[in-house]
Order: sequence, then C-alpha cells, then structure tokens
Amino acid sequence: MIQTLKSYFGYESFRPLQKEIIERVLQKKDCLVLMPTGGGKSICYQLPALLCNGTAVVVSPLISLMKDQVEALKANGIEAGALNSANDETENAEVRRACVAGRLKLLYISPERLLLEIDYLLKDIQISLFAVDEAHCISQWGHDFRPEYTQMGVLHQNFPQVPIIALTATADKITREDIIRQLHLNEPQTFISSFDRPNLSLAVKRGYQQKEKHKTILDFIANHHGESGIIYCMSRNKTESVAQMLQKHGIRCGVYHAGLSPQQRDATQSDFINDRIQVVCATIAFGMGIDKSNVRWVIHYNLPKSIESFYQEIGRAGRDGMTADTLLFYSLADLILLTKFAVESKQQSINVEKLQRMQQYAESDICRRRILLNYFSETSDKDCGNCDVCKNPPQRFDGTVIVQKALSAIVRTNQQIGVSMLVDILRGTFSAEIVEKEFDKLKTFGAGRDIPARDWQDYILQMLQLGYFEIAYNEKNHLRITESGSNVLFGRTSAPLVTIVRIEKATKQKGKKPVIEKELPMAMPATENESLFEALRTLRKDLASQEAIPAYIVLTDKVLHLLSISRPTTIEAFGNISGIGEYKKQKYGKDFIQVIKQFVDE
Ligand code: ADP
Ligand code: ZN
Repeated sequence: MIQTLKSYFGYESFRPLQKEIIERVLQKKDCLVLMPTGGGKSICYQLPALLCNGTAVVVSPLISLMKDQVEALKANGIEAGALNSANDETENAEVRRACVAGRLKLLYISPERLLLEIDYLLKDIQISLFAVDEAHCISQWGHDFRPEYTQMGVLHQNFPQVPIIALTATADKITREDIIRQLHLNEPQTFISSFDRPNLSLAVKRGYQQKEKHKTILDFIANHHGESGIIYCMSRNKTESVAQMLQKHGIRCGVYHAGLSPQQRDATQSDFINDRIQVVCATIAFGMGIDKSNVRWVIHYNLPKSIESFYQEIGRAGRDGMTADTLLFYSLADLILLTKFAVESKQQSINVEKLQRMQQYAESDICRRRILLNYFSETSDKDCGNCDVCKNPPQRFDGTVIVQKALSAIVRTNQQIGVSMLVDILRGTFSAEIVEKEFDKLKTFGAGRDIPARDWQDYILQMLQLGYFEIAYNEKNHLRITESGSNVLFGRTSAPLVTIVRIEKATKQKGKKPVIEKELPMAMPATENESLFEALRTLRKDLASQEAIPAYIVLTDKVLHLLSISRPTTIEAFGNISGIGEYKKQKYGKDFIQVIKQFVDE
C-alpha cells in the first residue's frame, strides 16, 4: 500500500483513517467515509482501485469534478476515463472499449448513465469496487438532494459481491443513516475523520453596508496579492455588480451563475482554474465541482442558507493544506430574505432550522470553529485561535448550574421537547400543553425563574453551540443531550458560558471605531526564495498550457513551495518531494531541476 502510494501519488504516509479505509475496501467490505473537503477522500478508493484486478466504478454527480479527477489521475500515470453527457459519443465509445478491454483502472460515471449501463457495460467488465462520491446527494435531508441518486440501490442488487465505498464531505446523522439504507450497505463501517480545517481562518463582519463591504473586499484582496479567491453572492445581479466594482479597480475577475450559458460558465471556470483571472464572483452554483487546490481565500458577500453550504464553500479554499482566509458578511437584510425563502420552501421546518444555525454561527460569541465542528457532531474542547472571536475574546463565567438546570429539564421530559417548551418549563410558565403533558409536575418546573426568558434563549443557544445537545430535525426539532452534555449534567466538567451584555454591547458598538485587523501572512517558510518560486510557477504554467491541463494538476502549490525550499538538483531528489510520484518525476523532473540549477548557479 505504501509503495503504491509513493510511486503513484508521491506521498510517504497516509493521512488519518486513509489506511483503515483502504484496508476495509481491500477486504471487499462496505464503508461510509466522512471527510472534509481536501481531507483526502479520493485516495481511499483510488489506491484500492490500483491494487485490485478490474475497474473501479466511481459514481459522481458532478461532471466538472469527473473531468478534473480523470486529468489528475492521468497526470499520475493512471488509466482513467469518464462516461457522461458532456462527452461526445465517439469519446464515450472509446471509454467503453477501454473498459471492456480491461485497460481502465477507474471509470467515472454519472448516476443517469450508470442506470443506463447497469445491464450492459457494467455486466461486461470486471468491477473491482463501487465508489459513490458526494453520497449526501442521496438524501433529501442533505442540502444537495439529487433524485437520480435515490436509485443507487441497484448497485448492490445487481452486484452483491462488489464492495461499495460511499464518500461525502457533509452528512449529519440522519443523512448518514439514509446513505447506508438507500445503498443497502452491508455491515458498513462508518469512518468519520476530523472536520477541522485549521488552515482556514474564520471571520465575520456584522451589519456592513455596501460601501463598507466593497472597501473591505478591496483591502482584503490587496492583502492577497495575486492569489486566487472566490466571492459568493446571493443573486446573479450581485455577482455582476461586485465583478464590475473589482474590474474598475484593475482586478482580473469573472462571474459564474445559472443565468449564463454552459459555454460562458465553462470559460469562467477554465480561466479561473488556469489562473487567467484572479477572482470569481459566483452564486452558490460555483465551485460545486471545482478541485482547484490553490484557492487562497473565500468571501461570502451574503449569508449562506446553511452551515453545510457555508462549510462546503469555504472548503474550496486551501485544499492544498496551506493557509487560507475566509470572511463572511452578515446583515439583517440577508437574514430576512433567506428566512422568507426558507419559509416558502417545500421543506420549511428543516430549511428554517438550518438557516437559524447559520445565523448562530454569524452571531456567535464563542469560537466559530467550535460551532462548525459541533454542527458536524464533532465536539471540540479547545478554542481555535484562528477565528475573529478567538482573537478578540468575550467575557466568560462558570455557567455549570445554569446548564445543568436546562439539561436536567430535557432529561426529565425524556428528551421530548424543543427550545421554546424548554424555556417555558424552566421559567415555570403554565400553558395548556404543559398542563396536559404534566410537565408542571416536574422537579425542574420553574427552576430557572430567576433568569429572564430572552436570556434563557441566549444561554440555550450557547449550549447548543458548545455541543451539549443536538436538534433532531426529523423528530419535531426535539433536543437530544450529547456526551459532552452528560458530562456537565453529572458534574464531570464545568460549562463556561459567555456573559450576556446585551444593552451595553449595543451602545458600545455604535461608537466603536472599526478595528483594523492584520491579515495572517501566508505561511511562507523563512528559507523560501520568492523569485525561485515565481520561476517555478512560470515553468508550471508553461507546461500546463502545453498539455492543456490546469497548473495545479501539473504540480500543486504545496509541491512548488517544497521545491523552492529544498531546491533539488537531481531527478532522484526531485522524486523525493512529497506529492511527486514516479510518473511526474520522469515527466517533469528534468525541466524543474534545470530552473533550480540555474537559480542556484546565479
Ligand atoms: P477530497 O476529495 O477529500 O476533497 P482530495 O482527495 O482531493 O480531497 O485530497 C486533497 C489533497 O490532499 C490532494 O491534493 C491530495 O493529493 C492530498 N492528499 C491526499 N492524501 C494525502 C496523503 N496521504 N499525504 C499527503 N497528501 C495527501
Ligand atoms: Zn476560534
């Protein structure tokens, strides 16, 4: 396994869980993999594909992502192809021939195409494994529901012996259960890797008007000289107007939204991937399938509709593991508009709830990364130090007793209540429902009378954010206590709450001058030489355009940085750089060491 990892992908070791996942697939057993964007999911099925006889069939809903993956595999000397509606039929026929002849190690296929081929092509080839990428699309609880995905049960019905590995970057518990059920996974093992992306900085700007937003964006981009970034906007018009504003200031930028023709969208995507434009202003549609590894920043001009969308969108930045910055603008106007959309949508209660969680992130007084991680059921006990709240910490006090009162009330109702009922119980409010359910007879009824209802709402919000309980969306939004919650309830840990300073805060903020934050510098090692890096980057660009592939597929930013630090002058040393496999070593070694030698000589 390690040998194959090194020779094809150029890496010395596995990331957490990769090895366990690969072993599971090699044992022909099913599994579900949850890893954040950039976590290294692809290798979990690509490596087994290389180690097994036959062809691995990868179901992916995103045509642009397939293209990117196939290019990246080919650039590492691995035979791969894609069958989808974007190819012309000659191309598809060639891919089918290669499959039948057993030449392809990996076949990427769209779900529609898979259903067409299930009784034909798939029966004619030896399938080593099925990988179902973006598996959350299967569930209507997820945020990217795709009806074609609900028929993926056919995989195990037709090929019960072939193992299935389902992969996703976003799935709450309900979605996870849905994936397992709908794919008929057999005794599946679920692997959940940490969703933490410590290289992404987090910041929120509250209540900015357009003029302030624009000034902030221009300053931000000036601090990211020449570095690629995405600005997500809520509407098509907004993408156009922000792009015009940037162009006026001499920034190369494009727009991407559903109102453009597929050709126009492809052109923007390709300009961005190939570094011909620095910025893309996009509606949420952008970046779904983008694999560009050197996006160095993401700005949300408007509030996203859910934490899943938000996390996936900021996840476009820093996929190569290098530092990247994210910034969210949060305004009441956005919130009102999004609430309206959510209320009018088909899945009203789910969408409203999701929006509220997004709102809590934006309004948070505690470490923003903890909120994100808790949202994905990952309780984190430490503040991150790389978000705006951590950098400007609020006041805390020991809120253990307050938290215990609330948690105990939840327990005494057998976890059959939502937030507003909880507040009513704590405050000792007699309502028809409380009397009917006999909650007024509970020991905790009225135990929190000394705290006003609006403060309870705030504390409960904090408790949710601290991960003491979760909300069960599909069970009337009832509250479910977590392990961290039990720890507080039974006095094993204490609960640090943030002091509520509602009134003073409002007045203080008005008169407060905006704090000018210093942006974190790129994590450039001291020994790195910028002109060498630029020379390598130019060479990479030339090689990429000769082959008509994106620059980051030739070599990633990370590899370029490593090269400019360790400056290898032999092909052997070049091949020892992390991220350079056999194929790239032979193909690019000579060109790169020539540039390095020239630099060293000078
Ligand atoms: P995902 O599909 O989870 O978003 P990718 O599979 O694209 O993530 O991996 C993200 C990046 O991490 C890629 O550049 C990939 O080559 C790199 N990577 C994956 N596994 C390893 C590893 N074991 N060591 C170093 N880099 C890795
Ligand atoms: Zn933090």
